[in-house]
Amino acid sequence: MYSSSEINIGNTFLGGNSPIRIQSMTTTKTMDTVATVNQVARLAKAGCDFVRITTQNINEANNLKDIKEGLCKIGIDIPLIADVHFNPKIAEVAAQFVDKVRINPGNYIDSQSSISEKLIPLLSVCKKHNTAIRIGVNHGSLSETILYKFGNSALGMVESLMEFVRICKNHNFNKLILSVKASNVVMIIDANKLLVKKLIGEGLNYPIHLGVTEAGSEDEGRVKSAAGIGYLLAHGIGDTIRVSLSEDPVAEIPVAKMLIDFYGKRWNIANGIPHESIRIATKYFSRKPPLVLTSGKSELADYSNHNESINVDSGKKGYEICKLVYPNLSIEELIIRATVDATILMLQNKPDGIWFENNDITTHDQNAKLSLEILQVLGLRISKTEFIACPTCGRSSIVLVNLLQEVKKHTSHIRGLKIAVMGCSVNGPGEMADADYGMVGTGNGNVDLYKGRKLIQKNIKQEQSIDALINLIKISGDWKNR
Ligand code: SF4
Repeated sequence: MYSSSEINIGNTFLGGNSPIRIQSMTTTKTMDTVATVNQVARLAKAGCDFVRITTQNINEANNLKDIKEGLCKIGIDIPLIADVHFNPKIAEVAAQFVDKVRINPGNYIDSQSSISEKLIPLLSVCKKHNTAIRIGVNHGSLSETILYKFGNSALGMVESLMEFVRICKNHNFNKLILSVKASNVVMIIDANKLLVKKLIGEGLNYPIHLGVTEAGSEDEGRVKSAAGIGYLLAHGIGDTIRVSLSEDPVAEIPVAKMLIDFYGKRWNIANGIPHESIRIATKYFSRKPPLVLTSGKSELADYSNHNESINVDSGKKGYEICKLVYPNLSIEELIIRATVDATILMLQNKPDGIWFENNDITTHDQNAKLSLEILQVLGLRISKTEFIACPTCGRSSIVLVNLLQEVKKHTSHIRGLKIAVMGCSVNGPGEMADADYGMVGTGNGNVDLYKGRKLIQKNIKQEQSIDALINLIKISGDWKNR
């Protein structure tokens, strides 16, 4: 853990050398001081470097002071970040008590006021209290003006952010950290690369926070986060990271630590994957193999024995399969490392397939499942339903983990569909942007049901919501039996 006096967060991308920090976010109600203090303490003990807390109104902004004091009483000095979306006044109150305030440009302004009008008072409060600001753009909440000018694109995200950055710079406020996040991994990678290019072009250098929004849970959530965050870290981009999982937030920390251990050395990947322990063998096939190959001996033998299969000598004419050989990694480590390495290879070298070996520590089925998961998050091979789920925060009023499990149980066989499960109707509908179907928690613990962006049914009791979802998928003609 590092202390709140060290909040002056780095200044590094492409070649800097400050350590990469881990961030997480509480899922408790912000007005529940005891529960929030306890969760922050658990996160700090797990190795989290700073914790974000949802701050929806002035009462919650004021309660951050009590949370900070509660942490001090139990000897925990960890930087806190207030997550404010809609109301600049809330940010101004919160900025007096916490180390950093996160604002979202897409939600922060309304059509009646200029950005400067809303932002300048916050800059004054932050200067007075030495508080940092994260300008955090989300793909799902770009303003109408940005959408009209730049579309729902990586460029739109970066332009939305740069409008705010330029105002801060013009007012001599430099204690900034920037983020452009989305649930689509390729979009995040493109947006962050574009952001770095833009900053360099304008002679600016601010730290960058990385994360994949609505990544979901279990292997899918880990693979999505690792692909986006790991790829960028390996390219020297990123100063703080958050792995968002729809699980207990403490589960995010070991994943974040692994990503930093393996890819946070601030090298530039241009010269290849930076691992002594990985061996990459490229095999060439004279006919197109399936996109996924795994370490199963039978499949390897099938290909090796096939008359027209391996054609190493004149390989360049064949189909290129990258085989990544790992030394006895646990399944948890393999998920992170194979995901990042394969993402780099698939996006940079563009081979026709990937193939993992892990000294028989993981089974053929585990390797195959992981390969399919990676190819799916990169949009290269769609083999199952994609789930978009938020990690929840103090805004959520549903038990999202249970609902997500139920949705997965009933719909994970419908290849090609995207189904979202989101904790609140404040940010949920915007953030699940490109899902085919969505379930969004309402204020009273019920669920609203969406088809695309269209609200179909309001306020369904949580226990009846799965049937309502299945029924909607069926009447829309998208249902498939197992
Ligand atoms: S969608 Fe709502 S509940 Fe979920 S993380 Fe975002 S703000 Fe929190």
